[in-house]
Order: sequence, then C-alpha cells, then structure tokens
Amino acid sequence: MRKITFIFCIQIIIVTHCFSQTIINRDPEIAQMVKEVSADSLQSYIYQMVNFGTRNTMSAANDPQRGIGAARNFVLNKFNNFAKKSGGRLAAFIDTTTLMPDKKRIDTATLLGNVVAILKGTDPNDNRIFLISGHLDNMRGSPTDRIGDAPGANDDGSGAAAVIECARIMSSHSFPATIIFVTVSGEEQGLLGAYYMANKAKKENWNIEAVLNNDIMGSNNSNETNIIDNTRIRVFSEGLPAYDLDKTAKQIRQFGLENDGKARQLARYVKEIGERYVENLEVVMVYRNDRFLRGGDHTPYVENGFAAVRFSEMNENYNHQHKDVKKENGIQYGDLPEFMDFEYLRKNTAMNLSNLANLAKAASMPEEVKIEVKKLSNNTLLSWNAPKSGKVKGYYILQRETTSAFWQKKYFTTEKEYLLPFSKDNYFFAVQSVNESGNESLPVVPGVVGR
Ligand SMILES: [Zn+2]
Repeated sequence: MRKITFIFCIQIIIVTHCFSQTIINRDPEIAQMVKEVSADSLQSYIYQMVNFGTRNTMSAANDPQRGIGAARNFVLNKFNNFAKKSGGRLAAFIDTTTLMPDKKRIDTATLLGNVVAILKGTDPNDNRIFLISGHLDNMRGSPTDRIGDAPGANDDGSGAAAVIECARIMSSHSFPATIIFVTVSGEEQGLLGAYYMANKAKKENWNIEAVLNNDIMGSNNSNETNIIDNTRIRVFSEGLPAYDLDKTAKQIRQFGLENDGKARQLARYVKEIGERYVENLEVVMVYRNDRFLRGGDHTPYVENGFAAVRFSEMNENYNHQHKDVKKENGIQYGDLPEFMDFEYLRKNTAMNLSNLANLAKAASMPEEVKIEVKKLSNNTLLSWNAPKSGKVKGYYILQRETTSAFWQKKYFTTEKEYLLPFSKDNYFFAVQSVNESGNESLPVVPGVVGR
C-alpha cells in the first residue's frame, strides 16, 4: 500500500515537470539539413584557414597565400560557390571600413573587412533577419604581431567554419525571413568588425531578431584536466539588458523579469530547438553575458538592443588560445588543428543550423501579447494578435515557475486568447506563433493590461 502511494507521487512530479501537453515533432526539412552538416567539411575549412599562416587583422591584405586578405578571399569564394546553387538568393561581399591607430591594439591604419553572405528571405512582407557570426581574424601572443604564425584553428576557425557550413547547406533552401552569415575581422582588436556591423544595423533599422555568435566551440578539453566533454556546449546570455536599462528597470523589478530579457529568451529557445534536433548534445545556459576577462562579438549587438548570445565549448584550453606556437616543458602551445574535435564541432554547428532554420521558417512573433491584471484572480488570461508576417496554424502558451530556468509547459491553441487555471502571481508565461510545419517563433513575454 505504501509502495503504491509512492509511485503515485512520482507520477505527479513527472507530469508537472515536462511538456506533457503538446507533442512536438521534428520538421523533416530541418532534420535533413542537420544530417548534412559534415565533420569532414568543417575540418577542411579549418585546415585551409590555418594554411594562411596568420589571420591577424593587420596581416597581409594582398598576399594570395598568407594573411587575412587570403583568408577573406577564401571565405568569399566559398560563399560565391554556394550562391550558384541558391537561385540568386545568396549574395556575398566583403564589407570594409578603415581602422585608425588607437595606441593599443591597432598600430597602423588598417582596412577591416567582414565577409558577409545574405540569404534573402522569400516573403516580401517579412523583414526579419537572423544572423550567425564567427570571427575570421586571430592572434598569437600579441594582438599586433601580424608576422608570426597564428593558426587560430579553434579561436575562431571553429566559429568561422560553422558559419561557412551553415551557409553551404542552408543556401539551397528557402526561408521567408533573411539569414545573414558573417565572418568578421578585428575581433581580437576589440570586437571592431562586430561593432561596425551592429552599429550599421542599428543606424539602418535592420530588424535583427537573433544573433548567434560562435567563438571557440570545437575543442573538448581544458588545460587543467584531461576530461573530454563533447556532449555539452555553453550559451551565454545577458540578464539585465545593456540597452535602455534606464527605461526598463522599473518594469523588470516590478514583474520579476530579470531572467526574461531578449537574450535570455533566445538562450532558452536555442536550448530547446538545438536539443530537439541534435543527438548527444546538451545546451548549457550560463546566466552571464560572457566569460571573465574575455569579450565576444555578440556584445556589440546586445549593446545596440538586439537579442544576441554567445556559444562556446564547455571547457577551454588556455594553452591553445592567444599563444605563440611553441613547445615548453613537454607542453605544446598554440591553437593548432590537431587539438580540434571535429565531431563535436559538427554537433555544435548543427545546433546553430537547426535554430537558424527554425527561426527563419517560423512566422513572426505574435503581436500585442497581453496578460490581464484588471482584478484579483487565481486564473490567468492571455491575449494577443496574429503575427505581422507568415501563416500560423496556432500558438504555443509557455509556462514556468518563477524559479525555473526553462519553460516547463507548452500548450497549443488556435485561438488568440487563453485562460489558464493558474495564478499569474506564481508563474511566468509567454506566447509563440507556430506554423504548419511546427516551427515556432521566439516567445513574447506579455505586457500588462489593467490598472
Ligand atoms: Zn575568439
């Protein structure tokens, strides 16, 4: 008798802590693209990038064999080859600006070039942009050393290779929204290529809804231990927003929304979608914008008010980052391709691809999402309007306890209003639009209507 009671309790716990309300299938088109991500392709891109000797931002711009110029042309040629199979939708170019000496990391006027490929969306009413970024430049011990060898296999050959591989596979598919694939330069000089692009996006009102920044995500061990961890990847996201906090702080405090900003929502989303499509990979959310003592190319976007996150491997090996290639006391230093785990990089690239594809296929987010607080009640009434672009079959209502990092329940409805028998005081809610093939938009946290 006691035993039966025990089992009953366990069942209750399971039911309240899983997505028991909705069965979600993989979209076969995305599953197929995920299958096409190739460890061999990624490996070949990285060896080719390493063969340019150095990709320091101030290295040779016009040498066909060595330096950042040769590396830029390599990526541009890849993008241009993919463009041939894109039905005229993929356009690639090098976006340049001149960097002036700053007495720190730039000692001479330098032409900076971001290699960009834009896969234009097929819906003329859809102006959303989803962006994947990695940095093509690298450094050895000194950021101004443009002569010595700097292989940069992992930092950030891994991120640049992931961008190229996503462009290869996705450019032969069509999406209603636009996807931008970019390998930037000047990261090691202070995120300069990303600042150039993010500032331009802000100034020109680009509707960027998500930025996936990949930096150091293809190696599986730390310098302190030999433990191999190739089943987890970290996603870093800011809590309190860097942008416009003065205007939003009061509301964030009042409603307890410190974990529900754009970047954190995106992190939650990429975890769910990445784990839906990629086997043997856990996306680990880290509740901070970046690691100690280091920066990343998502930050210029975050500072401009865009949702942006950073992906990095679980454990970093500092013997292989920002080091001259040398052997000392039996330890090999330098960012060499022999330290890469291309199967791990394949999974991390596939995780990016599944997210870009799911976002770009989905309808846009529902509009005017509201939670009613006109009177005291133990129910919760949510309402919203249809998205601006894309066709929906319905909407998902997301629910979690205020202490939970992840959405715990997901309900489907075809209506534009939903009454839940749970108190709004005790849970967080959000609404996503979902289309015929099951692709869901980013979630929208409801605004408050009432008093
Ligand atoms: Zn880096």
